[in-house]
Amino acid sequence: IERTFSIVKPDAVERNLIGTLYQRIESAGLRIVAAKMLHLSKEQAEGFYAEHQGKPFFESLVGFMTSGPIMVQVLEGEHAISRYRELMGKTNPEEAACGTLRADYAESMQYNSVHGSDSPASAEREIAYFFTADEIH
Ligand code: ATP
Ligand code: MG
Repeated sequence: IERTFSIVKPDAVERNLIGTLYQRIESAGLRIVAAKMLHLSKEQAEGFYAEHQGKPFFESLVGFMTSGPIMVQVLEGEHAISRYRELMGKTNPEEAACGTLRADYAESMQYNSVHGSDSPASAEREIAYFFTADEIH
């Protein structure tokens, strides 16, 4: 059994999509084993996206991710990391496959509604960035 880290981004929270996205996650057979609402500081967002520091979209990404509340979740299931990446679809909603979360809800490459860890190492880092062990059930 594997765990991954997920975010419902500010654009989706703003459009009242938390419940819809949680339903899609649960229907896909992934379990939400930890969850909370946060409003990231600039420092928290910069630290979370440290791998993108220096890229042309970095400042704008940090501005977006601090623009309003988000939901952060730990998801559990067989092959949770790759299964949740598949459920999300590609970063750019125009390239995301039909029936994926980003095809259905993302507005643009930046306002793309959801985040999911891309490897076991990032899942471990990202879960620990937002949750302590006793917050995960
Ligand atoms: P995430 O890490 O959020 O799950 P991802 O792994 O599909 O998405 P990354 O390449 O890690 O994509 O980029 C992180 C986030 O930065 C994207 O989800 C998107 O919000 C934003 N982003 C990436 N590339 C661009 C771009 N070219 N223009 C604007 N925003 C971008
Ligand atoms: Mg990524």
